[in-house]
Amino acid sequence: MRVMNEAVALISLGCAKNLVDSEVMAGLLTGAGYRMTPSPEEADAIVVNTCAFIGEAQEEAVDTILALAKHKEAARCRALVVAGCLAQRFASELLAEIPEIDAVVGTGDFPQIADVVRRALSGERVRLVGSPCYLYDENTSRAVSTPPYTAYIKIAEGCSNRCSYCVIPDLRGPFRSRPVESIVAEARKLARGGAKELILIAQDTTRYGEDVYGRPCLARLLREICKIDGLRWVRVLYMYPTRVTDELIEVMASEAKVCKYVDLPLQHADDDILRAMNRRGTSDDAREVIARLRRAIPDVTIRSTFIVGFPGETEEKFERLIGFLEEVRLDRVGVFAYSPESGTPAARLKGRVRARVKERRRREAMEVQRAISREKNGTRVGNVYDVLIEGRSEESDLVTVGRSQAEAPEIDGLIYIGNEHPDPGEFRRVRIIDAGDHDLVGEVLPDRAGEEGDAGSLQN
Ligand code: SF4
Repeated sequence: MRVMNEAVALISLGCAKNLVDSEVMAGLLTGAGYRMTPSPEEADAIVVNTCAFIGEAQEEAVDTILALAKHKEAARCRALVVAGCLAQRFASELLAEIPEIDAVVGTGDFPQIADVVRRALSGERVRLVGSPCYLYDENTSRAVSTPPYTAYIKIAEGCSNRCSYCVIPDLRGPFRSRPVESIVAEARKLARGGAKELILIAQDTTRYGEDVYGRPCLARLLREICKIDGLRWVRVLYMYPTRVTDELIEVMASEAKVCKYVDLPLQHADDDILRAMNRRGTSDDAREVIARLRRAIPDVTIRSTFIVGFPGETEEKFERLIGFLEEVRLDRVGVFAYSPESGTPAARLKGRVRARVKERRRREAMEVQRAISREKNGTRVGNVYDVLIEGRSEESDLVTVGRSQAEAPEIDGLIYIGNEHPDPGEFRRVRIIDAGDHDLVGEVLPDRAGEEGDAGSLQN
């Protein structure tokens, strides 16, 4: 049944994987006749797509829900719908403790979002949380919300890795891949719509294809996507260190369209802690994959994340992590303090680290990496990169910002440009003239006549 002109505001929290779900929901709601609005004040219904990865994300989600609940008194909102990981994990608690919530929808049930919104608007209180088994395809209506020149594609859903600290396998179900044809068809559609950069995401992209084809197929998928006309960059996020194969490295090295950018969550560098985290591989395996990547792709940018304060992390084990950071000198690193999640094996482990100590270690690790990142950014001064222009800076209209292959959107820093202001979505050659801890400053160079393709980084 089509509805007439009722407005829905959709607020997406958490990671890019959640953003794709939000885009699918927006597409389904629009298809059902709802009008999407960016403004909760104008909305008849508000949908919050939540994250519940760690305690901090849950707090942010609850704060957002409570803030939005006020619109039910002060504005025209008649239905507040909570979707995503928090809904999947705490459906009963949310309905019991926040009376303003009219519906909760689980991670496998959001394809029913239009029906849920309709029922909630007609006064019903809805709880729709089943097993998380949904995965969209190329025919799903999806209202892409990123700028027209860049888009995410979810190539798989769920996770079967079972890291001992992580709730995602329970919230998102087992790892399941989309067929190559479905992803390529979606990539073509996005390229026809103007996308120049595609970002492939999944809980573990390097496992892609194992469940469908009997072996990981990310390399094959990348080769197929690189054949699509109009695309300039294909970026891959969330690679599991022990699954980075030589074949994958070879494709990254040889295909000009594949960004020379590796997002490689390592989580720790002490082997006992890695074992307790149920991570595969040792710190030597991590050293080895970093070395292989750097040998094959000399200008590769490697980003990683680490967790400090995991149960059993003594000062000695923490120092091992610091030593590792100083030794391997990654380009970018995020450090998080461990947060015990109920229902996970790690939450039952002995040897808890006090909150104050966890925070001190997080700051220390970040400080060590800050100096490394600053130095590494400094070595980029004088280099020339193909830069995707993002538009005027949020801070000043006099400055334009862009990204090279080395900067993923929303995660890494930006390149600030003052001498020219090309249109968003254009690719321009930019020379780096200054560098900070995160961001760089560059100047647009004149185009070289007849030049095609992507040069990645060129030494001056
Ligand atoms: S790889 Fe580990 S941390 Fe990442 S989603 Fe899967 S279980 Fe969680």
